[in-house]
Formats: sequence, structure tokens, C-alpha cells
Amino acid sequence: MPASKMNKPLSSLDRDDNQVPDTGDHVDRSDGRVFIENVKIYHDLWKLEVEPMEKNVSWNEIPDYQKVEHCHFFHTFDSAGKAQTFCVPVGGHFHEMEVIQEPGKMPKVVCKSGPLKWARQKNKRTGRFEKVLVPFNDVDEHRHETIYLHSKQVETRKINSEATKLIGKNAALVQKPAGLDLK
Ligand SMILES: [Zn+2]
Repeated sequence: MPASKMNKPLSSLDRDDNQVPDTGDHVDRSDGRVFIENVKIYHDLWKLEVEPMEKNVSWNEIPDYQKVEHCHFFHTFDSAGKAQTFCVPVGGHFHEMEVIQEPGKMPKVVCKSGPLKWARQKNKRTGRFEKVLVPFNDVDEHRHETIYLHSKQVETRKINSEATKLIGKNAALVQKPAGLDLK
């Protein structure tokens, strides 16, 4: 068996189930890396169905929570081919999502968390501000049912060329000091 058939392609993303490698189009490189050019991924669009959220509509410091109907959308992958963890924010919050893959079946998408938002918090140890996930507010724990809308097969030639560029850049960085005779 040639090495090109045995090696796992470096262009593999985390979720192998979601990819349809086209094994007929290999590019063998002199450095021993084997790239499969036509790796395809499926991008699925899901809707998080209408659910009321608790919105603070107070005009002073005394909270006044009112129910507001809203929905969200969830893309399993972004346009750069990166698997997504959160749905698209609406009304100042978003939810953590889980994609459950079963071989040969449509993946299931579950709304895993109540409403969340990003906050800047000081890390007590380092003294630096960090972006941390916090609950949207103290009273709201709503979650959404999910419904599948449609899929698109994403053209990943662009992703692969980006990856190849990145690998090329890294290779250049590694090669540069060679002439400096570093010890
Ligand atoms: Zn929501």
C-alpha cells in the first residue's frame, strides 16, 4: 500500500464524520505530507425555535423583567470551515450548542445551555482582564427546541489553500534560522 493511502491527511478537521474526502485527488509533496484536495464538509443550518426570554425593561435600578419572544439560528460551521459552539446571538444572549453525530444519520443539534453572554473579568491571579462566559441574567434559564432547516456542501478548496498558505508560512519561519548556525 502506498504511503499516501495510509497517512491520515493533515487537512482533517476535528469532526471527521462531517467530511466526505474525495480520495481520488491526492497531492503528494516532497516533504512527505499528503494532502487531499477535495475534502468537502457539510454546513447545516438549524433554527432554535421561538421561546420567551426574560428581558429587563426597567427604566431605573429596580429590575422589571418582561417576556420577549425570540429565536436564534445555528450554523454548524462558519465560512472558514470552523466548527461552531454557539448559536447566533439575539437580544443580547446566545446559547451553547451540541452537535451529536451518529454514523450514517443526520446529526442532532441540542441547545445545551441557558442564555449566555461574554463579560470582561479580572483574573485574580494574573491581574489581566479576560473574556469569560457568564449567564445572561439571574432569572432567565430558557432553552430552545431545535429544527433543521437546510444544508450546503461547502467548497473547501479555499480552506485548503488557506491551510496550505499557513503551512507554507510556518515552514518559512522554521527554515529562516537555518543559515544562522544556531546552537
Ligand atoms: Zn435564546
